[in-house]
Parts: sequence; structure tokens; C-alpha cells
Amino acid sequence: MSETIVAIATPPGSGAIAILRISGPEAIPLVDQLFQGNSRPPLMESRRAYLGTIVHEEQILDEVLLTIFRAPKSYTGEDVVEISGHGGALMIARLLEAVLRKGARLARPGEFTQRAYLHGKMDLTQAEAVMDLISAKTSHAQRIALEHRSGRLGQEMEKIKQELLKIVAHLEAFFDFPEDDITPEQGRLLRTRMESCRHQIVALLSTAEKGRLLRDGASLVLCGAPNVGKSSLLNKFLEMDRAIVSPTAGTTRDTIEEMTILGGFPFRIIDTAGIRLTEDLIEREGVLRAEKAIKNADDVLHLIDATDIEETMVPISEGELLIFNKVDLITNRASLQKKFPSALMISCATGEGMETLIATVIERAMGKTGPFNEATPSLLAINARHQDCLNRALNSIEKALVVEATHEPLELLAIDLHDALEAVGEVTGGVDSEEILGTIFSSFCIGK
Ligand code: GDP
Repeated sequence: MSETIVAIATPPGSGAIAILRISGPEAIPLVDQLFQGNSRPPLMESRRAYLGTIVHEEQILDEVLLTIFRAPKSYTGEDVVEISGHGGALMIARLLEAVLRKGARLARPGEFTQRAYLHGKMDLTQAEAVMDLISAKTSHAQRIALEHRSGRLGQEMEKIKQELLKIVAHLEAFFDFPEDDITPEQGRLLRTRMESCRHQIVALLSTAEKGRLLRDGASLVLCGAPNVGKSSLLNKFLEMDRAIVSPTAGTTRDTIEEMTILGGFPFRIIDTAGIRLTEDLIEREGVLRAEKAIKNADDVLHLIDATDIEETMVPISEGELLIFNKVDLITNRASLQKKFPSALMISCATGEGMETLIATVIERAMGKTGPFNEATPSLLAINARHQDCLNRALNSIEKALVVEATHEPLELLAIDLHDALEAVGEVTGGVDSEEILGTIFSSFCIGK
């Protein structure tokens, strides 16, 4: 970790400013070899910008502003230097090259944040939130990321950890005096504490679904017979012509997936091949994929051609949202609605019914997670990694509860509680494994 790393911290392309970020023990001496100005980097004050030029091999590369953040008061907890240059792609690349020539190494994706974690500047949930903030596609996802960035989840985990530690300490006292039996009252206290931990973990686990839906988006499968207007509806959702709309049945042979935001919520909309019996091998493969997508979907929109109900009414499975499309072409709408009261009537051609459809789709997706809107106070929503750790912790606590209830030796109880503590600790850190850290930080961008 003692290597000095460098990366361009601003996005590729040209802009007003481009920033080079350098972190590590050699950051300041290294920049001292390149910077020319009224003050020398080792003598500069922290967190103050200094104007000067970067000169390499007797060539002026750029006029820059230099800012030094001395350890430990920096993003990574190490000495950090930021060089703000003019935002030309070539200029910043030449600055980067000069710094590399002086002995820094190019940072790996997420390495700055990984160093911040390893220097105790933030816990793992906060580090993950940095990435979530950068990749947030909706304001809800952004709010969750900000909440996690503030360390709220870490605080919740700390509470559970402290509670578990109290129980373990309680047990250790018994091991020191093995002749004393645990009294029924002490047994009850142990149990209450374990139940309380269990309760807190279950509450956090219940936010996982919300986290998944708000981060990755709910998957919405469009299904129905060929030609009912699935591709047209996908386009309507996306407000662009991504799928091929054609009057020939069976055009969409594969599944097409597109991400879109409806009413502030992310959705992955999957357009499937029309489901019908077919001899065409490629089309059959498409139908198989459609069936698989339906099985894994968060919601299924089942489209029927309102002008051709007999032909397009394929079997509807329970839970699917029934939609009659092409209502611009029919005159018997009232009787159709009476016959299918829960069905929605839309027209991809005129846009009629789309607002109600979108509101319904959001309500159905969020129905799974409880209401969620601007006023929702708690924005903790755990991710898949937190969920995995907490499931293991829950499992161990439940085992401990059984051990206590069946009056098995207290040593067994202690083992389960230690396992629970370890799993809870993994949420915020306490993870040294290169492999786990590598997996978490590799999804970051370089320079973060
Ligand atoms: P898919 O095979 O289910 O994906 O159906 P498409 O989206 O390719 O649509 C089949 C045909 O129906 C195309 O010619 C569309 O222009 C037409 N179509 C789709 N929706 C509507 C609608 O609401 N009204 C009318 N009049 N035509 C539609």
C-alpha cells in the first residue's frame, strides 16, 4: 500500500478543468519535481490552491492549480495532491504521463476509495455508497446512497454488534465460574437480548427488496401473442424507437431489455418474442427465453389486441396485469371493460391510457416494498452483499436461540454468537480478504 498512485479524476473528453489525483507517501516530493511557482509543494499549506506551471523535461505542460491534502486529513488518509489543469484530453494525458515517469503507478479502479477504507476513513458500507452515488440513476437511489454515505447503516450495525458483545461478555462470565448455574432470570435476559438482535437484523433484511428495486430496477416483462403491440409499448415506455415495430407476426425473436425511469423509479423492461406454437426453431428459442423471462420477472404485462381478442387471448397466468391495446380501433370499449373489470385499456398509437398504466406499474412494483416517496423518512436499503452477511448473522442467532431453549452447553451458544458477530462485522468491514475487497472496488471508476 506504500506505492504512490495517480489517476485522472475527471471524465474523459474535454472540459473547462481536468483534475489529476495523486495519493501516497511520495505524492508531495514527486510533484515537487514537476511544479514551478512561488511556493514549493513541501512548504505549501494544506487545502490551499497554488498557481504555477508543470514543467517536465524542460517543457511547460500546463498552467495549473495545485492543492495538497496532507495525511491523515485527506480522502484516502494519505498525502494527496490534486492538480487542476486545463481540460484538454491531450494536456491532462501529458500531465499524467509526467507523474507516471516520476515514479507513481496508475491507480486501479476504486483504489483511492479502497485506501480510504483501509485507512479507516470510512467503513465498507460508506465506500460502497460512493459508487452508488456515482451510478445513481434516480433521485431515490441517490437519496439512499447519501444516507449510506453518512454511515447510517454502519451505526445500525454497531448497535447490533454492541448488543451481541454484551451477550458474549455475559456468557464469558459464566465460563469463569462454571460451578454457577445460569438462573432462569439470567436465561430470560439472554433470550431477550438475542431476540432483540434478531429483530433488528430481520428489520434490516426487509429493506433488501427495496434496495434491489431502487438500485437495479424492477423487471417488467411484456408478453402476449405476436402483433399485439409489445414492441410498440416498449417504445412508448422508452419514448424512442429501440425495438423494431413491424406488422409481420413474430418479428421480435429474442428478448430485448431496456432500462428506463418511470415516475422516478427505475425499471428494466423486457420485450419478449410473442408466445405462440411455432415450427420455426429460432422463434421457438425466442419463446423459451420469453417463458424464462416471465418466470424471473417482478411483474408481467400481458397484452391483448383489443381488435382481435379471440386470436390474441393466450392463457393468462395469475398475477399478470391484463392490458388491452389498440383501443383507438374499437367501438365496444365499455362492454370490454365490463367483461374484464381489472384490465387496463391503452393505445400505443395515441398514447391513451399510458399515464394510468405507468401509475399502476409503479404501484405494483412498490407494493412489494411498502410505500416509498419523497416523504419516506428511512432510506436504509441494504444491498446484496449486506443481505448475504445479515442472513448468515440471522442464521447463527437463530441457532443460538435453539441452543438456549434446549439448554445445551453455553459453549455452543458462544460459538454461534461469535459467528453472528463476525457476519455482522463483515457488513461494515473487518474484511481483510483481498478477494472480497477486489470484488467490491473493481466496479468503481479509475480515479475514485
Ligand atoms: P408485437 O409483435 O407484439 O411486438 O407488436 P408490434 O409492436 O410490432 O405491433 C404490431 C402492429 O400493431 C404494428 O403495425 C403497430 O404499428 C400496430 N400497433 C401497435 N399498437 C397499436 C395501437 O395502439 N393502435 C394501433 N392502431 N396500432 C397499433
